[in-house]
Amino acid sequence: MTDAPASAAPAVRLVLATHNAHKVTELRRILGPRLDGIELVGYDGPEPVEDGDTFAANALIKARAAAEHTGLPAIADDSGISVPALGGAPGIHSARYAGSRDDADNRDLLLANLVGEADRTATFDCAAALVVPGAGQGGTAFEHVELGQWPGEVLEAAVGDGGFGYDPVFRPEGHAVSAAELTADEKNADSHRARAFGAIITTVRSQLGV
Ligand code: IMP
Repeated sequence: MTDAPASAAPAVRLVLATHNAHKVTELRRILGPRLDGIELVGYDGPEPVEDGDTFAANALIKARAAAEHTGLPAIADDSGISVPALGGAPGIHSARYAGSRDDADNRDLLLANLVGEADRTATFDCAAALVVPGAGQGGTAFEHVELGQWPGEVLEAAVGDGGFGYDPVFRPEGHAVSAAELTADEKNADSHRARAFGAIITTVRSQLGV
């Protein structure tokens, strides 16, 4: 998982604290040249218990765990879909909404819970966290979080086979199709993840000195 050309100066290492291959692919495309000088390192260490009650808290928990385990600066994302008509559910519980991590089961449950509901507005949320390990409180020297939102609505049925998770049942505002029917570039131009990581990359670069 190395971005640096062989002849370049040694890159600064940054751990990407996720086991989700879809997120890794999206982040590489979102950040693109803004990763120049940074070697993005995969993470296969222990996954912490995500017991925070906000996206931001859970993103920090994941980034802290990876920074502590590796001794390197780490970034993490916590994300999900929130539906006002369902009191904000599934929200931070999006990954296991139907009880397992099965995307199709999660989508089916969301559609079932919205049958007959007139208000189908929804928002994808993403918190991007950066943790730099050090001698500060809790073993970290620096922590920062940025939030990104992608507004839209939940469709009546799943459409499209791109993306992942709830993409087939989510129509982003300003588009006539589901997020799973967008090209990767279209999704990465304004998704919740693009907004959160687009905002945090400046801080990442200045903290890493690149
Ligand atoms: P996390 O890995 O704990 O952050 O869980 C995120 C969950 O939210 C995923 O398992 C998906 O179900 C959902 N999710 C987050 N971002 C997206 C997205 O971009 N498209 C579709 N589903 C998403």
